[in-house]
Amino acid sequence: MSTLLVKHAYIVTMDDRHREYPDGGIFVRDGFIEHIGHTGELPITADVILDLSGHVLLPGLVNTHHHFYQTLTRVVPPAQDANLFNWLKTLYPIWARLTPDDIFISTQTALTELALSGCTTASDHLYLFPNGSKLDDEIAAAKEVGLRLHASRGSMSRGESKGGLPPDSVVDTEKHILKDSQRLIEKYHDFVPGTMIQIVLAPCSPFSVTSDLMRESAKLAREYGVHLHTHLAETEDEEQFCLDMFGHRPVSYMQEVDWVGEDVWFAHAVWVNDEEIKTFQHYCCGVAHCPTSNMRLASGIAPIRKYRNAGINVGLGVDGSASNDGSHLLAEVRQAMLLARVKEGITGFSLSNDPSRKLMTAREALYLGTRGGAAVLGRTDIGSLEAGKCADFFAMDMNRLEFAGGGVHDPVSALVFCQPVRVDYTVVGGKFIVSEGNVVTLDERKLIKKHNKAAKRLLSDS
Ligand SMILES: [Zn+2]
Repeated sequence: MSTLLVKHAYIVTMDDRHREYPDGGIFVRDGFIEHIGHTGELPITADVILDLSGHVLLPGLVNTHHHFYQTLTRVVPPAQDANLFNWLKTLYPIWARLTPDDIFISTQTALTELALSGCTTASDHLYLFPNGSKLDDEIAAAKEVGLRLHASRGSMSRGESKGGLPPDSVVDTEKHILKDSQRLIEKYHDFVPGTMIQIVLAPCSPFSVTSDLMRESAKLAREYGVHLHTHLAETEDEEQFCLDMFGHRPVSYMQEVDWVGEDVWFAHAVWVNDEEIKTFQHYCCGVAHCPTSNMRLASGIAPIRKYRNAGINVGLGVDGSASNDGSHLLAEVRQAMLLARVKEGITGFSLSNDPSRKLMTAREALYLGTRGGAAVLGRTDIGSLEAGKCADFFAMDMNRLEFAGGGVHDPVSALVFCQPVRVDYTVVGGKFIVSEGNVVTLDERKLIKKHNKAAKRLLSDS
């Protein structure tokens, strides 16, 4: 039995009543929230007591789409100014050199960055397994950092010889992919509330995966009750590929291969029409919105306001670190708010007098990053701060230069409007991952050194 008491913070609960406590506290027992409310109403003793006067405290952010391994190939010069297909073709041969150690190191780098930006649960999509790499390498690395992980067993089965985009050297057989997927589910997947690890099946994209693998993956996932994830409708190039290869637009292709349902979430979902939004609504599919990546690769702007109005679950993702080129999830909340405003301005949405048609607010963007992400991953035990839920939260000291003048007017919105910075505390299941601005579960300096050595080797090997 261990207890933690946090007091005197400005707490944003993200509960259904949108409650905020200007002098709030949380009492945690064995990783779960037992009480939350005004500091004066909480127990006064605990094993650990933390006074967070002057701090804003929110539910831990939930990252719904990432490729941790890409931290090793950030800002690679030939891939800096390319759209998705050219970017991928430049990077596939480099990624083919990844080793199990590279997967381990890059996972720790990405998760450390995420933790320092307020993230407590991350989904990752690993779809290349060269030189003996396994999803197990990522899972082992994540355990040391201490964030909750939804590890997506990605896959590619359609190489160039079958009309796909990736070279044949980085794709695998359907038989091996399905066997390994089943092994991973049986070894790691855990349903209990507060689970630290879940497995997701995630064939990579329409242009790198055979239709048979899509169907068989869906069948396998549903036998075990695990979720399904893939890239979809990211670019116009992909749409054209789907029309040429399958005779369907991306969303109707998903219906064709049985990839619609509340157990499915799609990364990007930029190029969709109104009918396709209704399809997502009807089948309760979720969306991982990755605004920075969509801007970086010049992919387009996802119709987030339409998704939200249709009641579709939308979460945020930083996407792979080679198309962001960072893993700062709170910065992604900011990007989501700003990009939504660009879209809403273009469509004339904000020009209406209807008060429900206003620009995306900072609190709405934070909702996407917390409750929205939890819903997309199918979690009811995280995403808000309420009794019975996981004690996953982050806190930021408002007495910083970046918030000066803003934090006094509205500390919650200041987190989003002002310059994104490192958080002061990140707590997962009552355990400190970040404390006083530093990650405490590993040595950050040593990690940077190892990571840079691996990144250099990856580009110098030929
Ligand atoms: Zn991606």
